[in-house]
Amino acid sequence: MEAQKLYRLPKLEYDYNALEPYISEELLRLHHEKHHAAYVKGANTIIEKMDKARTDNADFDTKATFKELSFHIGGQLLHSLFWENLSPASKGGGNPSGTIAKLLDEEYGSFERFKKIFSQTANSVEGSGWAALTFCMGTQRPMIMQVEKHNTNVYPMFRILMVLDVWEHAYYLDYKNDRGKFVEAFWNIVNWDEVNSRLEKILNS
Ligand code: MN
Repeated sequence: MEAQKLYRLPKLEYDYNALEPYISEELLRLHHEKHHAAYVKGANTIIEKMDKARTDNADFDTKATFKELSFHIGGQLLHSLFWENLSPASKGGGNPSGTIAKLLDEEYGSFERFKKIFSQTANSVEGSGWAALTFCMGTQRPMIMQVEKHNTNVYPMFRILMVLDVWEHAYYLDYKNDRGKFVEAFWNIVNWDEVNSRLEKILNS
């Protein structure tokens, strides 16, 4: 039996109650241990089925399989990035500094204006999806985008600097249907050092 190369649920770098009062312990635990874990399991189940098909030299429904696989891998990737661009409430949020601060000022005029546009982007995602701050490798400029579900509108040329999950499962337990209030709360727990570090890695690569 070959060694299994599969996805794993990453551990959070902070306690489940560290994002309170902006995200409750109950919500974060559920989001990580149930929702994120389900995408990891979903992706691995499909990969194992494809492995079995190879062993059996059998065909599989490539269209349906790769569509579903893309969804689950997107869920795994975006949630992993999301946890890392959040920071315990005691040291999160505030204004960015360094390279990311300069980039956002240049592109959007001011940090406040960037925040407003990003919030509007998150609030206007239709159905389930994400708001993402990306960096376009083609223009070398930041670009705010909406990701539908976990995988639609994700392109290799747009590298992800920061994401915000606006699926209902990300906020309903704490905020009911008030997504806007959740998006406002998000600004208190952004890990700007992580966002800046992602940008610098891209610029220096
Ligand atoms: Mn989620």
